[in-house]
Amino acid sequence: MLPEVPARPLAARRKSRAIQVGPVTVGGGAPVSVQSMTTTRTSDVGATLQQIAELTASGCQIVRVACPTQDDADALAVIARKSQIPVIADIHFQPKYVFAAIDAGCAAVRVNPGNIKQFDDKVREIAKAASEAGTPIRIGVNAGSLDRRLLQKYGKATPEALVESALWEASLFEEHGFRDIKISVKHNDPVVMVNAYRLLAARCDYPLHLGVTEAGPAFQGTIKSAVAFGALLSEGIGDTIRVSLSAPPVEEVKVGLQILESLNLKQRRLEIVSCPSCGRAQVDVYKLADQVTAGLEGMEVPLRVAVMGCVVNGPGEAREADLGVASGNGKGQIFVKGEVIKTVPESKIVETLIEEAMKIAARMAAE
Ligand code: SF4
Repeated sequence: MLPEVPARPLAARRKSRAIQVGPVTVGGGAPVSVQSMTTTRTSDVGATLQQIAELTASGCQIVRVACPTQDDADALAVIARKSQIPVIADIHFQPKYVFAAIDAGCAAVRVNPGNIKQFDDKVREIAKAASEAGTPIRIGVNAGSLDRRLLQKYGKATPEALVESALWEASLFEEHGFRDIKISVKHNDPVVMVNAYRLLAARCDYPLHLGVTEAGPAFQGTIKSAVAFGALLSEGIGDTIRVSLSAPPVEEVKVGLQILESLNLKQRRLEIVSCPSCGRAQVDVYKLADQVTAGLEGMEVPLRVAVMGCVVNGPGEAREADLGVASGNGKGQIFVKGEVIKTVPESKIVETLIEEAMKIAARMAAE
């Protein structure tokens, strides 16, 4: 008999100080939050608020908006007031927009010290304004815009260079007694990024915003982010996440939520357990899984639905799930909580699963 191997949970969350981004606590053991960023012109208030509403509906908890022009800065007050989730202004190059964002009531401001000229001289004023308004600052270091001094010192954006940049800027704020800070050290290479965050986590107690920058189109970006966030979060590192995809921001939120659910850092909602299909399949598993997923999209209750192609693993998986189908001979055996409740023709499998899922959801909601 094999020796018993105890199940190892994820590492305990790293102890970080808590900051308040509007009503969302980041750090201090608070649940890991999911962020995204709008792609509209921020000065187009209607379009930006519309996109924020879509992000909110998809489960986004904090949203960032770009602020490259005075028109964008002028729009911040209305956007911050009308958004249902906290708004962070993203500032590059122009320190004057940092003050505008604080005045506009943004829940936080992200600054990129690498590309704000004479940023160090401005820190005292920024710390004073942010402190008076109770506005936290994210020091957002990015491999693509690393401080030139550090680029020369290290030759490229190494984990040490990213971390040194972030901690140098944090120390400037600390000199003025300002510690309402979170930090990100993003790189497009997940290995460099993971090492940078590990180093940073060991050197400070600020909450950390995880991100693989310029992660790429949806498929590649999803994999890079899942691998990097999975490694860090399983070590207890990370207080808020943003998946960066060359895809609509709602997709970023879906991926972010799925990463947290997969690690049990967020309660799982709909989970489709479907087999990859093989030469034994007696039904089109891909189509069936897609149709069931689409039919149950948006379901908020935790529900595990098994969609299996044949009787090899089908009954076993279907029995373990809340709801499932094991297909064979043009028919589907429908399981609810481990019991076969009926057998339906293949053409009725999807509608029967959706019907039964609705019944289970209604029972759960009533409990
Ligand atoms: Fe193949 Fe059946 Fe396993 Fe699906 S459940 S992968 S069809 S053996």
